Amino acid sequence: MSRPPAGVLREAVVDVGAIADNVRHLRRLTGSEIIAVVKADGYGHGAVRSGLAALAGGATRLGVSDITEALALRRAGIDAPIVAWLHAPGADFAQAAALGIELGISSLDQLQKAAAAASADRPVGIHLKLETGLSRNGIPPTDYRVVFAEAARLERIGRVRVIALFSHLSNASDEDDRAALRAFDEGVGVAATLGLAPPLRHLAATHAAIDLPEARLGCVRIGIGLYGLSPFDDRTSADLGLRPAMTLHGAVAAVRRVPAGKGVSYGYDYRTDRDTTLALVPLGYADGVPRQASGAGAVTIGGRRYRIAGRIAMDQFVVDVGDAPVAVGDEAVLFGDPTLGVPSATEWADAAGTINYDIVTRIGPRVPRRQVAE
Ligand SMILES: *Cc1c(COP(=O)(O)O)cnc(C)c1O
Repeated sequence: MSRPPAGVLREAVVDVGAIADNVRHLRRLTGSEIIAVVKADGYGHGAVRSGLAALAGGATRLGVSDITEALALRRAGIDAPIVAWLHAPGADFAQAAALGIELGISSLDQLQKAAAAASADRPVGIHLKLETGLSRNGIPPTDYRVVFAEAARLERIGRVRVIALFSHLSNASDEDDRAALRAFDEGVGVAATLGLAPPLRHLAATHAAIDLPEARLGCVRIGIGLYGLSPFDDRTSADLGLRPAMTLHGAVAAVRRVPAGKGVSYGYDYRTDRDTTLALVPLGYADGVPRQASGAGAVTIGGRRYRIAGRIAMDQFVVDVGDAPVAVGDEAVLFGDPTLGVPSATEWADAAGTINYDIVTRIGPRVPRRQVAE
């Protein structure tokens, strides 16, 4: 990576080649179909570019949280299957159905609304979501029979096409996830007795797709792994054979030589302890740099790593670079691929007391994304 283009203060560089490679790697590892999860603007990487890259890497379907996200992908010209699973009361199932968006269904009410949105010649594709322990949405076991029987009836009359049964895991422990898998299998069994034998079952997100082979079921929903980040505390991207797709960097906007004892940034939480050089990096919490990482997050400038000096402000933060020959315009990398010597998104997550998912997803709209394919 090099400095941002002239005139650009900050940018997130997204390597779509890494996304495609990550999908290829996870397909091989899991031996399963990949539903590429590109919700929340592709975890901050751009939903359309991430979706296209994932499809190029062999994903067969895209997953998003809501219909609005699904429609945006369709309108961008993506004609692959897309499934959306979290619906507002009164969500526009008709528009979704008209554009061939598949719907995750968590209740009898949603099932009936989906069926009502079907056109005469095209059933609505649905994925029935079973509640197996996470206590979010999903059809509860007490409703399995009623909902499955109705889905089977609606399928027979051509209103819906049941593409999948699915659920989501807690990752609380392998034991908890295995219990959820057993609950899911029971649900699949109940569905079969009522005449439902959908072509797909999917349960595992990245964590279980990698760590719990029995949960793969021939189809896995991959989110964080797509972007090359690890969902595990104790394993890096490289440990998993993944390559982080996003590099967040900026151009040093000012340098200043100061004496010992100089206060830095709001509150003077940091004071210099010698004559030194301060470099100003033009990214702040408005750009998604977590303010909680003040005094803790790190950046790489000129191949050396520096901790943030003092508080992260809305638009900028300062690093104390000592006597290093840092100049205005030098690249400051907040995070990227740590095998290249820069901090990882996970290190920023640790510094801020959060998870890497939060670090990439929160990158703000003021940060332009630049796509590369390396
Ligand atoms: C976000 C999400 C995923 C992706 O999870 P990762 O841990 O990022 O792989 C999969 N399934 C559902 C239902 C989700 O909401």
